[in-house]
Amino acid sequence: MDRGLGIREIVRRMGIQSVIASILVFLLAVAATCIGGYQLYHFAKKDILLQGELNATSSAKEFDQYLIVRENAVRLAGHVVDSMLTENKPTEEIMEYLVAESGSLKVSIDKNCTGLYGWIRGEYCDGEGWVPDKDYVPTERPWYTETMADDSEITYVKPYQDEQTKAVMTTMATKLNDGTSVLAFDVSLGHIQEITENIAENTPGSISVVLDKTGQVIAHSDSGELGKNYREESDTLGSALADEVLNGEKRQFELSYQGRKYMVYSEGIQGGWKSISMIDTQTFYKSLQTFLPLLIFFTMLEALVFIAVLYNLVSRNIAISNRNVQIAAVADMYVAIYDIDIAQDTVRQISRGSGGDTENILDENQEGAQEALNDLLDRNVHEMSRPIMELFIDLSTLSRRLENAKTIAEEFLDDSKRWCRGRFIAAERNEEGEVLRALWMVESIDEEKKHRDHLKRLSETDRMTGVYNRATGEGKIAELLQSGAGGMLLMIDADKFKSINDSLGHDVGDKVIIALANAVANTCRSSDVVMRLGGDEFVAFAPGVVTKEVGVQIISRLFESIAEAEISELGDRKVCVSVGAAFCPKGTVMPFADLYKMADNCVYESKKSEGNTYTFADSEA
Ligand code: GH3
Ligand code: MG
Repeated sequence: MDRGLGIREIVRRMGIQSVIASILVFLLAVAATCIGGYQLYHFAKKDILLQGELNATSSAKEFDQYLIVRENAVRLAGHVVDSMLTENKPTEEIMEYLVAESGSLKVSIDKNCTGLYGWIRGEYCDGEGWVPDKDYVPTERPWYTETMADDSEITYVKPYQDEQTKAVMTTMATKLNDGTSVLAFDVSLGHIQEITENIAENTPGSISVVLDKTGQVIAHSDSGELGKNYREESDTLGSALADEVLNGEKRQFELSYQGRKYMVYSEGIQGGWKSISMIDTQTFYKSLQTFLPLLIFFTMLEALVFIAVLYNLVSRNIAISNRNVQIAAVADMYVAIYDIDIAQDTVRQISRGSGGDTENILDENQEGAQEALNDLLDRNVHEMSRPIMELFIDLSTLSRRLENAKTIAEEFLDDSKRWCRGRFIAAERNEEGEVLRALWMVESIDEEKKHRDHLKRLSETDRMTGVYNRATGEGKIAELLQSGAGGMLLMIDADKFKSINDSLGHDVGDKVIIALANAVANTCRSSDVVMRLGGDEFVAFAPGVVTKEVGVQIISRLFESIAEAEISELGDRKVCVSVGAAFCPKGTVMPFADLYKMADNCVYESKKSEGNTYTFADSEA
């Protein structure tokens, strides 16, 4: 594209409609990207928020399954022991059952579990046979006191963190029908901890927590939080969470803490516990926010591609329009330009439209290239130039003639006898160098030709007299001598010319020289060569004149002609010349210098006599 091409210029060259259409396409593309981007952003956001809810409910289900299996084990064992107590079975028998059941729990639930134990009919019974220390008072242990104080069928005793394994443990216990006996089972919550950690790992910005009724952290995706009781804390995220989750029934809410926002989902699970899933919106939106630069990037990319296409389009359009202007400018110089497809045998005129419409300067293709050129020749070429031009426009020989040249040209006269130049330019060739397409251009050179001819004449002629100068005359005579046609060379020198100059002045001398030249020229035919050697010396060559008889006739005519010259300044004074004549016989090829020398010698001889005198060289035919 041209540098500094203004918007107006672009619009003018592209056309307002295509500019508007391009802008509309661009705006539509941007709008489509924005809508599509917003929809994607919206769906992605919704999807991740749903993910939070899903985390809470699915993990709650897993927790419940884990806990219910253990609850049921305690419930079943409680029923069995209750019925044994009702049947007043001995304590040993109850112990046997506890041992057997503990064994089967290791197989069916957890091989690391510590088995069933309890306070039954005022005695500590242990399914694993563990014997407590003396200072171990079962009825003062939390598993006993909390169960006694609780009305639930299964009591979840306040969890504690094992000092050694760091695993959070709880005890599930059930009060037996006698009102004083309690059957208990220790449950490790390590599995629940694992689940919370997995959830946090799989969802960015998410925190997973399990709290019991008192605010105790049962499980937390950040294991550092284990052992804490959020109810006992103040002004922490945990305490804010516990307040909302444990006080209300809200399952889904937004929690703000220290300028950060969390989407919270809570789900009740066994034991009155809560499975909580929190998503830190900032962390979560951050991952979504990477989408925004991407969207902008693609929109910009789209815009750039569009601009590149537009740029290309405008450039091409401008290049074409420039080329058309250039062709039109060139076409202006030519009478006609034709694009000839030799391979397809078609021709197409490249010319300016009638209204000067540079965009539409190419005509339709026309079949039959040679016929079209012949037709042009018949209509536009003067009959004098036709024989030459018929050969020149022969397309069958064009390739050969353009073999070593890009262009060939020939000058001709048009039907108004004005000079033109026809030119072929090879536009396209095949691999063998044959011309497939050529331009045929006709240029008017009438003015140029006249000027050229004028210059040529100037260079060839003697300024003062208008006859050939020495160099041109010599060349032309030498050319004629080469033909073998023979001829007569006359050398003419004015007698005592110096005295005219001296007595009457240089100007009169000049007039005499001009009069002599005219006399020689008038004496000779147009096919003869007349030149001024210099000073008062002239040479005339008459081709084909090879006898003294004809020679004498010519010389006599010359003398008459000189005598008729009227130069008033001369008064009575007559101009006389000495002439030397030498022949080149027919069929002889002679150098100019030889003939000249012979004639020159004859002049020398003539000078010896007064008045108009001539002398012939001996070589007369
Ligand atoms: P001759 O009879 O032996 O030929 O004697 P001439 O006086 O004619 O002497 P010559 O031919 O040797 O000299 C020619 C003279 O013509 C010499 C020169 O001064 C004069 N001349 C040469 N060119 C010009 C010219 O262009 N104009 C004029 N007026 N005189 C010229
Ligand atoms: Mg002289």
